Amino acid sequence: MQKTSGARRVGSHRKQDTSAKRRVAMVAVAASAVTSAGAAGGAAGASTGAQHNAGSRDVKLAADTTILAQGEGAGAAGSSSAPAAGEAPQILEVPQAVPAGDLAGQLDSAMRFAAQRAAADLAARAPMAAKPAEGTMTSPFGPRWGGFHNGIDIANAIGTPILAVEDGTVIDSGPASGFGQWIRIKHEDGSVSVYGHMQTLDVAVGQKVTAGQKIAGMGSMGFSTGSHLHFEIHPDGTNPVDPIPWLAAHGITV
Ligand SMILES: [Zn+2]
Repeated sequence: MQKTSGARRVGSHRKQDTSAKRRVAMVAVAASAVTSAGAAGGAAGASTGAQHNAGSRDVKLAADTTILAQGEGAGAAGSSSAPAAGEAPQILEVPQAVPAGDLAGQLDSAMRFAAQRAAADLAARAPMAAKPAEGTMTSPFGPRWGGFHNGIDIANAIGTPILAVEDGTVIDSGPASGFGQWIRIKHEDGSVSVYGHMQTLDVAVGQKVTAGQKIAGMGSMGFSTGSHLHFEIHPDGTNPVDPIPWLAAHGITV
């Protein structure tokens, strides 16, 4: 019987595409069935003998599948391999269950990876920010001396590095009324940062700067009672807001 079907298989080789795929599938099924059987059978049966049996079972399954596939066209011819026909549907349920579990695990893993990468990507794209100067905050944002203090003052020694708070382009660098000297930097989001009273200026108008880059040395020029940085932030490019919460929102504590 099997010899006959083997001979027929060779003869109708081009019609075997479908059954060939099925055979591949069935071998995979048989392998997972053996794995399950090995797990269920316990350690006692797990030996080289069991593997040998599994190997010959693969061959039998492959042959039976071929017969079944040929039987599809011939109708009742499939009934001659009744034991295999009864066996096949039971085995086919196994691969449907096993990959489903694997897929769920893979999907879960992939989603976790995607979430981690999205978070890292977001952090990488968030504008870097730097503290404009180290020192002691001596004057906050708000009403002062009958006027309004548009920024904060950070006091430290003359020459203390003044740093760009964010990436941007220098739009002013030079003398300015009240500030003695000032630097203004326009950032990518349209905000403008202002630095005043510096002793030395390290950047020129039009220059690109990056967050944390030294742009000047602290001083006491202009309307000042001691060496300090006067720092302002204008989120809309024009109107100053309290730099403390703005800096805090950028992860900077003064
Ligand atoms: Zn000030």
